[in-house]
Amino acid sequence: MASIASVTRQLGALEISSKPNTSRPTHEKKPSQSKNVSQLLSKFAAPNPFPVKATISKSSSQTSLATKQPSRPPSPPKPATKPAQPTIDIGRYDGGLELDNESRGEKVHGEAAETLALDSSVSQTRPTREWHLTDFDIGRPLGKGKFGRVYMVRTKGEPHYILALKTLYKSEIVQSRVEKQIRREIEIQQNLRHPNILRLYGYFHDEKRIFLMLEFAGKGELYKQLTKHGCFTEKRSSRYIDQMADALNYLHSKHVIHRDIKPENLLLGISGELKIGDFGWSVHAPGNRRTTLCGTLDYLPPEMVEGRDHSEKVDYWALGVLTYEFICGAPPFEDMTGYNATYKRIAKVDLRIPPKVSPEARDLITKLLQYDPEKRLPLDEVRRHPWVVKYRSKGHSTSMPMS
Ligand code: ATP
Ligand code: MG
Repeated sequence: MASIASVTRQLGALEISSKPNTSRPTHEKKPSQSKNVSQLLSKFAAPNPFPVKATISKSSSQTSLATKQPSRPPSPPKPATKPAQPTIDIGRYDGGLELDNESRGEKVHGEAAETLALDSSVSQTRPTREWHLTDFDIGRPLGKGKFGRVYMVRTKGEPHYILALKTLYKSEIVQSRVEKQIRREIEIQQNLRHPNILRLYGYFHDEKRIFLMLEFAGKGELYKQLTKHGCFTEKRSSRYIDQMADALNYLHSKHVIHRDIKPENLLLGISGELKIGDFGWSVHAPGNRRTTLCGTLDYLPPEMVEGRDHSEKVDYWALGVLTYEFICGAPPFEDMTGYNATYKRIAKVDLRIPPKVSPEARDLITKLLQYDPEKRLPLDEVRRHPWVVKYRSKGHSTSMPMS
């Protein structure tokens, strides 16, 4: 029987793209794989209850947006030898989208309306089929973002994809004056394909809202895990850092600097794999270095604190901060006396590593947290560092050569 994890992994490889007169998304990989994927997804969509997993709500009633979803016709009897087909419970919808839509946001006009008329079906680079809110069954709420709610959803049409649907209120985006930034975030994310970067399958809009069809991160926020446990074991930290280094290397190869790496922007897939989820501050850097001050204070490198030019090496620094925070439970330059004190500690690279940290981890942290960006350990060397290699599981797949 297909597990949620295997189906989700298969979903990660899918392309929900445009095919005239077909609602069945195509597959980016070799044609020979598409049959397996369809089989898996058919199982995925079968009406029998799926064995309950901790991350999936036990509630089974979900409501379609426009009207109550008529209950499915009973499944045909199956031969006794065949096991029950799994389906994924998307949980109970709380009606939040309609509630929000009545009380929140206004129509936007003019240039802002044009900037925010975002629809992947007309995208120049990667058009997808045309989507509407009525194409989805809405399930449980996953969280609230700055500009709207996020829900677990399933496409009504075969093969019943499971996704996270994120809403963004246009008028609130305009109020925050981030129309261009949001547009850029969406355009960047739609073009990325990496197992540790949350996929954006498509997007569409109505008068007041933008909807993002995101890969469903079944284990939620990494930050919650870190808060729950206080800190991570070195093994767990090392595996996350390996995945981060791989994902960042991929981003940099596409000339994208993330600039806002921190636990709050990381999600976890159904098998616990790390997913970079937020691209709000990322920047396409076609050669030029940028001087805008952005990002969270604790993760800022000296060159940004000091207002100098910066490059993709800001993400190397942030990876060092992340390594420290995973193992120690707090970022290295945090200073309770205030922002200024943190700035000063960053500028001096006032790094104090507690004795509990292993010599190998200490070595990696020190090599990443270098004042001079050029001296920071490159990402492929991070992936070859003894502390990372030591804990890498044998089956770990890599998207870049390890030589
Ligand atoms: P914030 O500023 O609070 O981070 P945001 O606008 O960036 O808001 P998100 O962080 O993307 O919004 O989403 C809000 C919450 O919804 C997340 O913290 C997470 O719990 C949940 N969430 C978002 N996207 C997904 C997803 N793809 N899979 C599972 N849960 C998600
Ligand atoms: Mg966020």
